[in-house]
Amino acid sequence: MNNLKIIIIGAGIGGLTAGLALKRAGYTVEIYEKTSEIRPAGAGISIWSNGVKVLNSLGLGDEIAKIGGQMDRMEYRSHTDKLFNQINLNPVTETVGQRPYPVSRTELQSLLLNAFNNNLETVKLNAQFIGVEQNTQGVTAYFANGYQTSADLLIAADGIHSQLRDYVVGHPVKLRYADYVNWNGLIKINPDLGDKNTWVIYVGEGKRASMMPIGNNRFYYFFGCPMARGTIVEPDYRQRELKSIFARWPSPVQSLIENLNPQELNRLEIHDLDPLETIVKGRVALLGDAAHASTPTLGQGGCQAMEDAEILSRFLLTTNLGVEYALKRYESERKERTSTLVLKARKRADMIYGKDPHLTQQWYQQLQQETEQDVTNALSKTILGGPFH
Ligand code: FAD
Repeated sequence: MNNLKIIIIGAGIGGLTAGLALKRAGYTVEIYEKTSEIRPAGAGISIWSNGVKVLNSLGLGDEIAKIGGQMDRMEYRSHTDKLFNQINLNPVTETVGQRPYPVSRTELQSLLLNAFNNNLETVKLNAQFIGVEQNTQGVTAYFANGYQTSADLLIAADGIHSQLRDYVVGHPVKLRYADYVNWNGLIKINPDLGDKNTWVIYVGEGKRASMMPIGNNRFYYFFGCPMARGTIVEPDYRQRELKSIFARWPSPVQSLIENLNPQELNRLEIHDLDPLETIVKGRVALLGDAAHASTPTLGQGGCQAMEDAEILSRFLLTTNLGVEYALKRYESERKERTSTLVLKARKRADMIYGKDPHLTQQWYQQLQQETEQDVTNALSKTILGGPFH
């Protein structure tokens, strides 16, 4: 279909990637974002090769490579510093045809935003979406400041707390607390922390601590620990909290906690979403976390938002049977892939964070027996399930 006007709600990874893909397909795209300044939540993100391939297709390959880390190896260690396994990641790159790029979220967001904002179209900030109406001819979106606009279709890329989700699904949908807290931030690489090209993951006692290389000589670090819902710890006390939770863990973990900047240490309770029965209603489609928020244990949430963007623009572009038809095809193409990954990530989160301590102990054993081939195959399978094989 040609000459469509498309409204996107939300200028996160999903909204911006969709905006770029749809503009590239030749459509008129307007993105509306409620905040006055686009500030990503969280410090880093790993864009696995399936996500990078979507960015490559949008002409952003060189730019993502510039901000990406050199992640050549992956290493699992116990909380007593026993080496569980060490995996060379280059065979994954050779199998799938593209390196993964762990990056700073701020840098990724600016890259996407700059690519979208050109002379003709810019993201409209301070535009809080409040409601939508649709009929067989089109959709109208309403905003808190009284503004309204109409288009052929609307994409809800409004994140994990999506306001449009209930409208699309037709009943209230609750998020599921994954029973653990995540802390994350960025730190300059130094040899006390670990090898600069290795993604290291310490696991033990149903917790984990990890450092992943991103561009410009920094590690994106994250910690996770099971916790009851509702704990709040102010930034000044977070370092102390980590010291106590990870007391006696190996020296790189101690050094990380000692040297991180507590004012830039994010702390959040992790939630996900049961797979939805539908992600499309007429001319409105959910995309990204609005459709399939996941626990971050496979590092695929943002990559899936990018895949959504690619598939949505592909189906709009290659049919002349109408918007509603294209969105239904988008839905049937995306539902199984995203539901499978959300449930896989949930299972992995339960295993990492000791939901059943016996299974977690078994997993620690299994890590020691896994071959490089096992890990390479598992990672490649997930990546090759994306739109660019
Ligand atoms: P968001 O990025 O949340 O963007 C939604 C946007 O919509 C926001 O800008 C918001 O302000 C705006 N908005 C909301 N409501 C309105 C409204 N009413 N009107 C206008 N605008 C609105 N994924 C990976 O691929 N790799 C990883 O390594 C990875 N690690 C993660 C680590 C953690 C700790 C977490 C929590 C997630 C991780 N993810 C990862 C998942 C990834 O962050 C998300 O899947 C991704 O950010 C989703 O993008 P989105 O555009 O759908 O939503």
